[in-house]
Amino acid sequence: MKKITVAIDGYSSCGKSTFAKILAEYAGYTYVDTGAMYRAIALYILQHCPSSDPEERLEWIRHNLNDNIPLMGLGDAIRTLEVGNLASQIAVVPEVRHFLVSKQQQMGERGGVVMDGRDIGTVVFPHAELKIFLTATAEVRAQRRYKELIEKGTPMSFEDVLRDVNDRDYRDTHREESPLRKADDAVELDNSNMTIPEQVEYLTKLLDERRK
Ligand code: C5P
Repeated sequence: MKKITVAIDGYSSCGKSTFAKILAEYAGYTYVDTGAMYRAIALYILQHCPSSDPEERLEWIRHNLNDNIPLMGLGDAIRTLEVGNLASQIAVVPEVRHFLVSKQQQMGERGGVVMDGRDIGTVVFPHAELKIFLTATAEVRAQRRYKELIEKGTPMSFEDVLRDVNDRDYRDTHREESPLRKADDAVELDNSNMTIPEQVEYLTKLLDERRK
C-alpha cells in the first residue's frame, strides 16, 4: 500500500488528536500534533519573555524564534489553559506560523504521516491524499473539555469552558494568516452524535480506500 499524507483539521476539542493517533497507529505512520508545537512556543514565552503584556509578548516572540526552542516531548506542561490560550494568541503571528509550517513540512515530506491542526489541509500539505475536517457543536466540545478538566482535578465552571471554546473558535477562524477553514477537498465529519468506535470505523475505511 502507498504511504500517504493524512491531514486532520478542525475546531478545538473535536477529538482531532484522538483520531490522528488511532489512524497513525493503525497504518504504522508517524503522528504529528502541530497544536503541541504552538503550545511549546507559548510555554517558551511564559518561561523566557520578560513581559506579561499581551502585545509585548507577541512582539518579543517575533524576534526570539530560534531552533533551540524545544518543540516536542513537553508532556503535561503544555496542557494547561494558560498555555492553550497563549498558543491561540501567538498563532495569529505570521512569523510564528511560517517558522512552524516549514518544520511541519520537513517532518512530513516523505509521507506516512498523520498530522493534526488547523491549517494542515489548506497550508501545510495542500496536496495531502486524505484530508479530514472534524466538527462538533461548541456545547458538545465544551462538555468534553469540561469532563476532562474535572477528571484532571482542575476546577472550572462549564460557562467558563464554553466561553473559552467560543473565544478560541473565533480567533482560529478570524485571523488573517491561514484562518481555520475546511479545504475544498476535505471530508467533513460532524461527530457531535457519534461514538469513538463509529468514527474509527468510518475513518479507517476512508484511509484504506485512499492508500490502495
Ligand atoms: O490543538 P491545540 O488546542 O493543542 O492547539 C493550540 C492552539 O494552537 C489552537 O488554539 C490554535 O489556535 C493553534 N494552532 C494553529 N494551527 C495549528 C495547530 C494549532 O493555529 N496547525
